[in-house]
Amino acid sequence: MNIHEYQAKEILRKYGVTVPNGKVAYTAQEAIEAAQALAGPVYVVKSQIHAGGRGKGTFMQASAGDKGGVRVVKGIDDVGTNAGQMLGATLVTHQTGPDGKEVKRVYIEEGCDIARELYLSILVDRACSRIIFMASTEGGMDIEEVAAHTPEKIITVDIDPASGFSGFHGRKLAFALGLEGKQVSKAVQFMTAMYKCFLETDAAMVEINPLVVTGEGDIIALDCKMNFDDNALFRHPEIEELRDEDEENPAELEAAKHSLNYIKLDGKIGCMVNGAGLAMATMDIIKLYGGEPANFLDVGGGATKERVTTAFKLILSDPNVEGILVNIFGGIMRCDVIAEGVIAAAREVSLNVPLVVRLEGTNVDLGKKILSESGLPIVSADNLADAAEKVVKAVKEAA
Ligand code: GDP
Ligand code: MN
Repeated sequence: MNIHEYQAKEILRKYGVTVPNGKVAYTAQEAIEAAQALAGPVYVVKSQIHAGGRGKGTFMQASAGDKGGVRVVKGIDDVGTNAGQMLGATLVTHQTGPDGKEVKRVYIEEGCDIARELYLSILVDRACSRIIFMASTEGGMDIEEVAAHTPEKIITVDIDPASGFSGFHGRKLAFALGLEGKQVSKAVQFMTAMYKCFLETDAAMVEINPLVVTGEGDIIALDCKMNFDDNALFRHPEIEELRDEDEENPAELEAAKHSLNYIKLDGKIGCMVNGAGLAMATMDIIKLYGGEPANFLDVGGGATKERVTTAFKLILSDPNVEGILVNIFGGIMRCDVIAEGVIAAAREVSLNVPLVVRLEGTNVDLGKKILSESGLPIVSADNLADAAEKVVKAVKEAA
């Protein structure tokens, strides 16, 4: 789960990580009041959306001006004007996709005197099965770009879970970042607090880009992106409360309400599968036969008629879907019950794309008989490869 920059900074502040003073605002008037409570005369007005690259982003509406989604302004009047321009406008960045995101909140911060912009993040590295810090002197840039073109400018330090984060980890990072004198101990303090925050909140990633060295030699987090391990959210109701449903994919939200694991992808073939492993295998084999999956969807163990129907509706709510592959193993669920569910769902949503069904398991023959006698144009498949081949072919023919 992702949260907004201002929420992430609030959490960092609680843990003693240095961040600029700031306040969130939902209207231009609130933005002015926020600025009045902060030290001026330089302020930063920052669009709050769950996407990076806001600084270099552009608004769809000309009325929002052409100065991007992060603006350094002088004076309280300009805070009001710029907040008013951003709020309600749609910001497009390289991370939002072409549709952009509507700005519904802005963050007003005290301006900061930037001497250097660095990069610092903490995340779980699957390759070494440890928490790592990643640091780079190339702050303010996309770290993916740095990794692609100048990987030598990224250094990582992994933390042994048994002994945790120590001063020497921090000093190693600080020296790699070219910090000197008092900056080093400030950076170590900063990282120690950041590590504690990461652990205690069950975060998946905390990314500070840029991490700034100020003119006075202070180390502060000028931007922060934070996301959390969904499987640990039950331990953090205070973080769950920060969820902004406006920022989440509506189909994924709907799926979560029905305990379906749905993730939208870019292809044309909708998939309905039980079990995450089988879902992954189904996506792989669709690709092997030259198709692209439109989604990952695990309907789980108890695939009742209601869940199958909801799953169908979710798949069909994606306008890219040109064919559906149902691949279900009837272990706990019997294939005949699944077949009934598929037929009922197909009728209810008045299915208008080719549907290939592959069933395997208990009562499979009865299940197939029910499908073939339904009068619906359902293509039955005998195995995984057969199913993938048939659905890819059906979509090509329909096109
Ligand atoms: P992002 O573009 O979504 O990553 O948003 P950031 O919060 O990283 O802001 C983009 C850039 O705006 C930063 O890299 C800074 O160069 C600049 N910026 C942000 N806050 C300030 C500030 O207080 N003072 C100055 N001078 N620049 C700032
Ligand atoms: Mn940034």
